[in-house]
Amino acid sequence: MEMTNEILSRVQSSVRRAKNGAFYQKHFAAVEPGDIKSEADFLRLPFTGKEDLRGAYPLGLCAVPQEEIVRVHSSSGTTGTPVIIPYTQKDVDDWAGMFKRCYEMAGITKADRIQITPGYGLWTAGIGFQLGAERLGAMAVPMGPGNTDKQIQMMIDLKSTVLTATSSYALLLAEEITKRGLHDRIHLKKGVIGSERWGEKMRRRIAGELGVELFDIYGLTEIYGPGIGINCPLQEGMHLWSDYFFYEIINPQTGERVPEGEIGELVITTFEKEGAPLIRYRTHDLTRAIPGPCPCGSPYPRIAPLIGRSDDMVKVRGTIIYPSRVDELLSSIEGVSSEYQIMIDHLNGRDILTLFFESELTGGAKQAGLEAEVEAQFKARIGMTPSAKAVKVGELPRSEKKTTRIFDNRY
Ligand code: ZN
Repeated sequence: MEMTNEILSRVQSSVRRAKNGAFYQKHFAAVEPGDIKSEADFLRLPFTGKEDLRGAYPLGLCAVPQEEIVRVHSSSGTTGTPVIIPYTQKDVDDWAGMFKRCYEMAGITKADRIQITPGYGLWTAGIGFQLGAERLGAMAVPMGPGNTDKQIQMMIDLKSTVLTATSSYALLLAEEITKRGLHDRIHLKKGVIGSERWGEKMRRRIAGELGVELFDIYGLTEIYGPGIGINCPLQEGMHLWSDYFFYEIINPQTGERVPEGEIGELVITTFEKEGAPLIRYRTHDLTRAIPGPCPCGSPYPRIAPLIGRSDDMVKVRGTIIYPSRVDELLSSIEGVSSEYQIMIDHLNGRDILTLFFESELTGGAKQAGLEAEVEAQFKARIGMTPSAKAVKVGELPRSEKKTTRIFDNRY
């Protein structure tokens, strides 16, 4: 996105507001808002990372008097201390307005019935989809995740026209509807899918089996939540609501801007956020800018669908798994070597994670006990139950270069 004088002054006032909070008072101790007079000045501002935000737990990010906060949300806390994001009423209203725009971009109107399957609670997913639906005036059907029988029953009886879901849950529902031969009884026309990296193959399957037009909605809890951008019906990238934030795309290794059109990490600076303004926040989402105006006529700039994460993670049955956490876990269990391999497969509508680990204790009862222990520890510390299998030391492949440990065979 191009830096203009207007953007510079919006950045200045955002930095000024951010510095009312404990977090930026420290993080930007050497930064004076009035000194940000050029793009070069802006580029000298330090990035803000998720680890920095963790350090502000619980309410260190709050940049307004705490009685102004009407709500908090939290980003997924599977890697330790959660990040708490406080929202003022204006933040909630702005988010709802952006989300309404997303629905409108997808051609969804108040006549639609929106079935919401992402989770409700501390994280921003379900409640964001709901907020946007209410602002639009559509009928929200707030299901939350799971309970496939009931989902399908409501979808049929309430004649839901829009499904909002993660790509994996949309696929599961699509498969169930096909298996049960219910195509004639569902009324879905559109699917709004929470942004994550998902393959073209999967997209075609969901669109084909459900008979819907699919839209990728983008967002992250730190920057309001889902709803800060969506693709248009031309499907040529996602439009971002750039009147609420400035974005740049950087090389995740060097932190330098990449030339327009090249892949890099998306970095966002908020203009309007009050509860927790964020300056140069690293999203870790990899994408690229799509230059030029969109043929759809929207004035909002575009990025390509997400390519992945600049850190190395996988999501299995809703749980985010980082290789670094698995390393940590296995190294704490006696009798387990450091070598492991994770295979993720999608079987019968369900993701299966198999964890192979090397051990001296293979064969017999000791092996079964060790596998059970690894499964239990994995569940307790990472949040889901894998199928753990011990193999003899040396059986897993070794590599001169960085060993690939996670094989995602799902799509
Ligand atoms: Zn467009």
